[in-house]
Parts: sequence; C-alpha cells; structure tokens
Amino acid sequence: MSSQVKAYAATSATEPLGPHPITRRDLRPNDVEIEILYCGVCHSDLHTARNDWGWTKYPIVPGHEIIGQVLSVGAGVTKYKAGDRVGVGCMVDACGHCEACVHGHEQHCRDGATFTYGGKDRIDGSPTHGGYSERVVVKQDFVVRVPDTIDLKGAAPLLCAGITTWSPLRNANIGPGSTVAVVGLGGLGHMAIKLAKALGAEVTLITRSPGKEADAKRLGADRVVLSSDERQMAEMAGRFHLIIDTVPYVHDLNPYIPTLSFKGELVLVGYLGPLEPALDSAPIVLGGKAVAGSLIGGIPATQELLDFCGQHGIVSDVEMINMQNINEAYERMLKSDVKYRFVIDMASLKSTA
Ligand code: NAP
Ligand code: ZN
Repeated sequence: MSSQVKAYAATSATEPLGPHPITRRDLRPNDVEIEILYCGVCHSDLHTARNDWGWTKYPIVPGHEIIGQVLSVGAGVTKYKAGDRVGVGCMVDACGHCEACVHGHEQHCRDGATFTYGGKDRIDGSPTHGGYSERVVVKQDFVVRVPDTIDLKGAAPLLCAGITTWSPLRNANIGPGSTVAVVGLGGLGHMAIKLAKALGAEVTLITRSPGKEADAKRLGADRVVLSSDERQMAEMAGRFHLIIDTVPYVHDLNPYIPTLSFKGELVLVGYLGPLEPALDSAPIVLGGKAVAGSLIGGIPATQELLDFCGQHGIVSDVEMINMQNINEAYERMLKSDVKYRFVIDMASLKSTA
C-alpha cells in the first residue's frame, strides 16, 4: 500500500503553486525512502511550472535538489541505511544497460532517463514528483551520499546547479593553468565560479549586471567583465579555454566567440531553443572553436562532485525560504534577486493543510 505525503504543486502554467498531496510508492527491494529536509529552487523548476519548454504535464511537483535523511530501505538495499545523509538530483532511474548508462552518463540514457519530476516511473507508469514534498522513494542507484563535512542546506544546490557546472569543467579537464569564463551569476553561475576556482583555474565572470563584482570576487572570480561593455569584452580576446553560459533566455552568443582561445569551447547549460540572432560559424570554423551543450551529469560524477565539495568545504550560498513563499521566490529569481540559491526548509511544509 502506497502512502500520501504533503507536497506543493503547480496545477497550470498560470496558477501559483499550492498544497497538493501526492502518493509515494511502497518500497521496492532496491528502494530508499527519504525524509526530505531541504530542497533547492532551480530556474528549471520555474521553467517547468510555467511550461516554458512546452512539455509540462500538470499537476507537477518540482524540486530536484533534494537533501534528506534515509528513513527506511528495501530488503535488497546495500548502499544505505536509516539515518544516512543523502541527496537526490535530477534523475531517479534509467535503463542501466545502454552505452550511456554503462559509462555513467544516465542523463543520456538511450531510452530516456526518468527525471525526478515530470517523468514516468519505469515500472508502474505513475508520474514522478519532485522534492517540494515531505518524502521521496528512490532506487538506491540514484541516491548519492552527502559528506559529513558539509552543511546540508548548502549542499542541496550541488545536486543540480553544482553537477551541471561540474560536468563541463571536468570534461574540459579544467585545472591549474586553465582559463574559465562563467556567463551569468545566478544559481549555476555562482557554483561554476566556486568549482572552477577550487580546481585551480583562473576565473572570469561575464555578467549583464553592474554591481555583482564584489560578490563574484568573494566567490572566487579573478575578474568581472560587463557583457554590455565592448571594450571590456575586446580585452578578453582569445583568452578562455572554456566558457560556461548559464543564461536562461535567448541571447546573442556571437560576442563571446572571440573571447575563446584556439580549441576553446563555449558550453551552453542555460537556454534551450533556437539562437537569436543566428550564430556566425565563420569565427568558430576559422578559429577552431566549439559551441556545445551539456545536461546535468551522471550519478558517478555527482558523487565525485559531492566528495570534492566535502574535501574542499564547498557549498552553495543559500537563502532559506519556507514552502509557502515559493511563488514569491520564483518572482525574485526572475529578477536575479537571490544570493545565490533559494533553498526550501521542508519543515515548513509540515504546517500546511
Ligand atoms: P538563475 O539563478 O536565475 O541565474 C541566471 C542568471 O543568468 C542570472 O542571475 C543573470 O546573471 C543571468 N541572466 C542574463 N540574462 C538574463 C535574463 N534575461 N533573465 C534572467 N537572468 C538572466 O538560474 P539558474 O538556476 O542558475 O539556471 C540557469 C539556467 O540553466 C536555467 O535556464 C535553467 O533551466 C538551466 N539549467 C540547465 C541545466 C542543464 O543540465 N543544462 C541544469 C539546471 C539548470 P547576471 O545578472 O550575472 O547576468
Ligand atoms: Zn535544476
């Protein structure tokens, strides 16, 4: 028999999120039941709640930066026990045997990964629901361990903002001697700065917002460039081995290409959709440069990131909110008015109807 838990859902693209009980399945042999303590608020939650990508099925319970404590485990679970500090990110299942899964890139599962919310359970077909809820039941292979050395609240955003920026950094072998630019200082951007710096890179923030300089430097940036300032952009010519572009909405990529070094790569992690204005291929071809995309990261990479953060004492800068304030938080996120990630204290959900 499954159980009902409290949750917050969007029921249409235009309605605010509100209380909406959901069902969590009984434990299968390989499942872990987790009491959710904290859940980060990702811009993808907002895109999904408002159907920005056109694929949302309502009601939807967002939340894929889940931190919690194991309540109970199924008979076949070997990796976790009650009381363990754990996290769940953007995925809860995948086929496990295709080339992508075998190599630990479950997000690119040939059959499609099962995402934490808005997905369909691979066994019973029920909709998956995210972390804006009291509890979650997840297959043990999609649960990661949170090191004892890091604060649980600040660890929540590592499960999406962290891994999404960690993947391009690791793929590009970023380390001492590397030059990295981060476009946009929000949830993803501030993690990208912290992680690139901890890996030993020289880090530049490129922002549309004057006034973020002091924060960017405190987070680890060596330099801040205003994207609207042509002179500052021109001074960056040929500099970056890697640019991680976190901007959520359509914007002109052409001004960034000259700032890439030979073989340099601009990796899009934010905006999904047609580019406007069109991308000029000439400087890309002639300069031997690349424009690519990257989607979150696999489970082994997520555990690697958490362990790295445990060793280096890295967590997200968070602003704690109650579940009841989620709609206001979305509006503030749209205005970039958050330093630098909202995290919901899920204890607040217990007091809702
Ligand atoms: P966020 O906290 O809202 O930060 C976005 C930043 O982009 C802002 O702080 C702002 O920084 C900059 N920006 C530039 N133009 C903007 C505009 N017109 N409106 C709003 N911000 C603008 O968002 P996030 O949570 O970091 O997410 C960023 C994007 O990544 C979202 O689209 C999200 O869906 C996506 N995402 C992708 C993946 C993936 O796997 N690829 C995973 C998670 C999230 P400045 O003021 O410094 O310019
Ligand atoms: Zn996310």
